[in-house]
Order: sequence, then C-alpha cells, then structure tokens
Amino acid sequence: MKKANLIMLGAPGSGKGTRAVAICEVLGIVQVATGDLFRHNLKNNTELGKLAKSYMDKGELVPDDVTAAMVKDRLMQADTEKGFVLDGFPRTLKQAEMLDDMFKEMNREITAVVYLDVADEEIVKRISGRMVCEKCQAPYHKEYTPPKTEGVCDKCGGTLYTRDDDKPETVQKRLNVYRTTTLPLVDFYEKKNLIVKIPPELSSAGAVADMRELCKEIGLI
Ligand code: AMP
Repeated sequence: MKKANLIMLGAPGSGKGTRAVAICEVLGIVQVATGDLFRHNLKNNTELGKLAKSYMDKGELVPDDVTAAMVKDRLMQADTEKGFVLDGFPRTLKQAEMLDDMFKEMNREITAVVYLDVADEEIVKRISGRMVCEKCQAPYHKEYTPPKTEGVCDKCGGTLYTRDDDKPETVQKRLNVYRTTTLPLVDFYEKKNLIVKIPPELSSAGAVADMRELCKEIGLI
C-alpha cells in the first residue's frame, strides 16, 4: 500500500474541500487546508491572522513565504506522518517548488495530485450556495450537499455561515487569481506524472463512496 501524501488542485468552489474531507475519512488521514489554517488564525487574532486577512478580504493570495512557513509548521506535527491531504496548497509555482524542497527535507514524496476541472459559470453557482461550519469547518452546499437541518452542521452541531470572501465581487477576483497563478500547476504536476483527474460532479453514492473508489484506483487501499 502506498503512503497517501495527497494534494487537491482545483478552483475555489470546485469541491476540493468536500473531496479532501471524504478522502481523510476513507484513509484515516488528516486534512491540511491552508484557508482553514488562516481562518483559524484570524479567529484567534494572531499576527499571522491579521496579515492574512488583508489579502483574503481582497481575494488575493497571502505571500508565498508566509504560507509555506505555516504549511511546514503543520506538516511537522506527528498526526501527518500517516499521510495527509493538502487542500489549497500549493497555489503558485513558487509554492510548489517550496513544497518539493520541504518534502526533500522531510523525506516525503507526493503520492498524487487530485485535480478537479470545473467551468467558471459552474463555480460561481457552487460558491454562491456554499456554507461552512464555524466550529469544525465542514463544508456544505445549499443545493449539492445540504445539511440535514438547515443552518446546522451534521457533524458537530455548529452553526453554518457564508464566508466573507464568497461574495460575488471577491469570487470573481479569486477566480482570476486561480486562472493566472494556480492553473499552471496542472502542467507542473502533469510533467511529474502525478495528476489524477476526477469528475467535479458527485455520483449518487456521495463523496465518501466516490473517494473510496478513487483511493482504490490509485492503490491507496
Ligand atoms: P480557501 O479557503 O482555500 O479558498 O482560501 C481562502 C483564502 O486564503 C484565499 O483566497 C487566500 O487569500 C488565502 N490562501 C489559502 N491558501 C493559500 C495559499 N496556498 N497561498 C496563498 N494564499 C492562500
């Protein structure tokens, strides 16, 4: 069985988070979501949180060195030793190179890069119905993956909210950033033969069943 050091690649709203959570459930590994780490810092009013907020509010990326240092810190923690799903990192070529260096140092390898290819119009639709649990960060969508009780997280009972940067103006900006800065990573990882492309729609069986199939296909179970 291969070790699962996975990367999720796809536009904001492409369903990366939902797939990442499902993969973690299937394999019993941890999700490392840079957006969640920044929001956690923001909530706790740390220096990193304050710095990140100034970029996040505008739909811009937090500088590479700051983001990579935060990821490195997280990957040094013992719970990532069994494997992890990087969700939202890397987002620039520079970050991808920094991650390669980090992995060399840590004696780790990328197992696969799971890529979700979604059209822009579909993304705007997806983001406009998106909600997140304020307590455990579990992602929901009003139409595609609604909670059992409106406004309440199925997993922990926390309250669901819409992120500030999911407002239409900011979404457009984030999409532009994705197209120009993050999309070249598909090529970068294709050259390394790491890309596993998956359909953006969930099957009727749901995210966990879909990701179990994916994990089988890439030899993780
Ligand atoms: P997300 O929850 O992944 O959509 O991330 C929300 C925001 O956090 C992004 O719009 C960026 O401002 C910031 N962010 C998350 N991941 C990164 C990253 N890898 N590099 C730079 N900024 C990031």
